[in-house]
Amino acid sequence: MSRSKKKLQPPLVTNLTCSKCGSNRIIQNAEIKPRDGGIPPSLSLEVLTGEKTMFGLGEKIEYAWVYANLCVDCRHIDLLVPEDDAEKLWKAYQDKNNGLK
Ligand SMILES: [Zn+2]
Repeated sequence: MSRSKKKLQPPLVTNLTCSKCGSNRIIQNAEIKPRDGGIPPSLSLEVLTGEKTMFGLGEKIEYAWVYANLCVDCRHIDLLVPEDDAEKLWKAYQDKNNGLK
């Protein structure tokens, strides 16, 4: 399973337990994709930065890939993004809400 462009994933957690039922049967970092595959990429989380795009058509968006951890026993799903991406979105969110450009 080699890809030319590897996405940054959240680190695998040892002894991870389900946040809902406590089971340790967790499938980590499953990618979330449209059922029929095709052109649309994996789902991502988007946050407006407040910056104008270079084309002046709107505001710049920061995004992060979204991954899912599935508990096999209770079927609860936790969604998460890589840590660096979470920090990037937080900065964009703060800048936007502080009115910075
Ligand atoms: Zn569970």
